[in-house]
Amino acid sequence: MIKNDCIFCKMAAGQVPVTKIYEDEIVLAFLDIGPVSDGHTLVIPKQHFEKLHDCPQQLLGQVGSCLGRIARAVEVAMSSDGYNVLCNNGRAAGQLVEHLHFHIIPRNSGDGVFNRWPAYKYQQGKIEEIAAKIRRSL
Ligand code: AMP
Ligand code: ZN
Repeated sequence: MIKNDCIFCKMAAGQVPVTKIYEDEIVLAFLDIGPVSDGHTLVIPKQHFEKLHDCPQQLLGQVGSCLGRIARAVEVAMSSDGYNVLCNNGRAAGQLVEHLHFHIIPRNSGDGVFNRWPAYKYQQGKIEEIAAKIRRSL
């Protein structure tokens, strides 16, 4: 499954240059051209799926098993204190490229990346109500 106007499909097909980190038949990993920190890496399935839940389970498992290995390499190579794995799904969630991808973002203590995490508390009874709603959608 390849989408003609998709930049990541073109990368997977070797039609657009990438700074490659890793490649096999299923997965491509390359450096993000707009990094949040040095070593910011993107991991994609070569096939085109828009969102996480569009990707068949088995393929997602194969991508996921590469993800840990690549994340470790990024952390070691960048001597970072940690990393975030981020997957934006949908425009509202910040997905600009509509081809499933995982960001691996090296992090260092006090680096200020993702400084704001707007957490709040549920009002009484709301947490169970929401959990039940999600369970019904499974
Ligand atoms: P997202 O907002 O989750 O869709 O992230 C898309 C990411 O793709 C951004 O961080 C971009 O910097 C990155 N990106 C877009 N075009 C390229 C490209 N040609 N090479 C490498 N990274 C890219
Ligand atoms: Zn694509």
